[in-house]
Formats: sequence, structure tokens, C-alpha cells
Amino acid sequence: MPGGIDDYVGLPRVEKLLRVADELGYGSVLERALRGGAGVADIVELYRAPLWLLGAVARAVTDAITGRRVGYVVNKILNYSNVCIVGCRFCAFYRRPGSPEAYRLSVREAVESVVRDWARYRIRQVLFQGGVDPEIPIEYFEEVFRGIKRETGGEVAVHGLSAVEIDWYSRIHRVSVRELVERLVEAGLDSVPGGGAEILVDSVRERISPAKTRAESWVKVMDTVMALGVPVSATMMYGHLESLEDRARHLLTVLKLQRRRGLVMAFIAWNFEPGNTELQREAPYPAGGTELLRNVAIARIVFRHEIPWIQAGWLTAGTRLGQVSLDYGANDWGGTLYGEKVLPAAGVPLPRLVRDGIERIIRGAGYEPYERDNWYRPISSAGG
Ligand code: SF4
Repeated sequence: MPGGIDDYVGLPRVEKLLRVADELGYGSVLERALRGGAGVADIVELYRAPLWLLGAVARAVTDAITGRRVGYVVNKILNYSNVCIVGCRFCAFYRRPGSPEAYRLSVREAVESVVRDWARYRIRQVLFQGGVDPEIPIEYFEEVFRGIKRETGGEVAVHGLSAVEIDWYSRIHRVSVRELVERLVEAGLDSVPGGGAEILVDSVRERISPAKTRAESWVKVMDTVMALGVPVSATMMYGHLESLEDRARHLLTVLKLQRRRGLVMAFIAWNFEPGNTELQREAPYPAGGTELLRNVAIARIVFRHEIPWIQAGWLTAGTRLGQVSLDYGANDWGGTLYGEKVLPAAGVPLPRLVRDGIERIIRGAGYEPYERDNWYRPISSAGG
């Protein structure tokens, strides 16, 4: 992971911005955050600061960490089953067991789907996620992961199963989280995505997904995963029933976890998409574009280099806003996400991105694109 510097406050660009921030009343809170010591009240205050100021500071910090380079990964999402017994109120993707619209890919279908996209697009990563399908045994995942590794010569990394899936499958199959993760790693799991975090505050979780893994358990699962040496990412889904204070607590929970284990590679914020969800009645409108930019900038200022990659968040906000989010401190584009089914279920159409398209988008925003692998390492000779 790239290193940072001890003194962001001393960067000439930041010094100038802090003088302006002082006049506006945000100088000291920004300083505290840039020194790694922001608390809940500080972060709430940052959410009220002018967006342009947050963006300028965040970008200066990112420039000091990774310069003008922006990575992307050619990947696919494999939603192996839409059967789920958790029933989150914000989710338009899942179906109850027995639903006529339920599907579950066989081991062979799952492996073939990855191999097809590997042959076609030279994907480097599969983001492997489903609902929590109680009919799926642990052996299913082991066979799929082994099949992917065997058939692609180990070229496709498995970024799979959120903390929520790990938590539920460990309980359904009566094995410890540790044992489950060890078995999955043995079969080929490379890293764990940050899905299922939403907002890591139980009073919010009770309202948006009452049956879901509680905040403390989410953290415990991720802690166990990282203790086994497996890197992870962290996410935040905003724009539903949470308050600014809840967002602040969420960011600090993620930061604390990172300070303990150090294997959170990236942070991704996306907004709640209300289409076709139960929560639509209480939160009918998606958050606007400025919310994405604000979350990206604040994440960078609070996480600094400690979580080196902040993703552009184009998935729900679109590629045009994704470009703008680079100016607000993002330094990774995320993936091509071939095969994504969750957002289309909420009525969000996704663009089909290919290497050339992503590189044009990143260059168009004034940054230098590079293809990376699952571990955020540049790939020197990109094929396809
Ligand atoms: S968000 Fe995930 S856990 Fe929740 S209902 Fe949808 S598929 Fe199930």
C-alpha cells in the first residue's frame, strides 16, 4: 500500500486552503481531521463545510498519496443467487426462497460464467456476491472458487462474500467464522468486499434491515478475516434514514478497524437507490450528486493515507459524476462490473464499460489511468 506523510497540514497547498478555511470557521476542524484525530462532532461539522473547500483539501491530500494516477480493474460481478432470507428493506434484488423469480447458479454455471468473461475481456477479478441462500452448502463455494482458479490458471482473483454472507453462512452451517474463512481461502478466496456495511450504527440498521448482521458482528467478521491475512474493502450506503452523526460514526468505525488490522484496501460510498424497494415509502428520492462528492471528500480527509484508495462511486451516481469525484479526492475507478444485477433490479441502468472507455473517462477528467489487479497493484502489460 502507498505510504502517506505525517504532516498534511504542512503541505503548501493545504496551508493556503487552511487559511481560507480559518476565515470560514472550519480551519481547526480540518486540521484535526488531517492529523488523524477527528471525532464524531468534527466529522459532522465537516459535512456542513463548503463542498469546494472539502474537495480542494481532499484532492491535495490524495495528490500527496498517489499523485494524479487513477486505477481501475477489469472485473465482473457474479450474483450467484438472488435467494435471500435476510430481507433488507432497501434491497430490490433478493427473492424469498420458493419465489418463482428466484435463481441459483449451479457450480458449473458459475465457473463457466467467469471463464467466459475471462476469455472475452481478460477480467482480473470476480466480485462474487449473492443473497444469503440457506440451500447453498459451503462445498458450493469451495467448488466454485477452485473451479475459477483451475480454469483461469489463477489469473482471476476471487473478491467474494460480504461479511454478512460470511456471518450468516457460518451460523447456518454451524461453523465458526474463522473456520469458514480458512476453508474459503484454501479454496481460492483472495479478498472480501465491504458490502453489507451500509451504516454501521444499529439504530439505523434496525430500521433499514432489521434482520441483518449487527454493526459489531460486521466488524468482528472483518476483524477475523483480516486476522487471517485476507485484505478487505469497506463501503458506506448513504441517503436513506441515517443522520450526519450516523455517517460520522460509520467512518470512525471503519477507521478504527483499519488502525487495528491495516488490511482495508479501499473505501466505496454509494447512495441508496429507492426504486422497487420497501424503504422507498420512507426515503423516496436518491441522494443528489453533491452528497457523493461530500462523502468522497470527507472520507479522504478522515482516512488520509490510512485507507489508500477511495473509489469514484460511479456505480450509482453515473460516470459523469464519477469523473467529478476524482477532483474530490477519489483515486480509484473501481471495476467494469460486467454482469451486475443488483442495481438494475432497483431500476438503475448501468453503462457497459471497457478498458478504452474507462481510460478515456479518467483522462478526460485530467488524470492518468492504469489497469490494476485485485490488490490495487498496476498491471504492466494489459491485454484485451
Ligand atoms: S442486501 Fe443482501 S442481505 Fe440484504 S436482502 Fe439484499 S441480498 Fe439479502
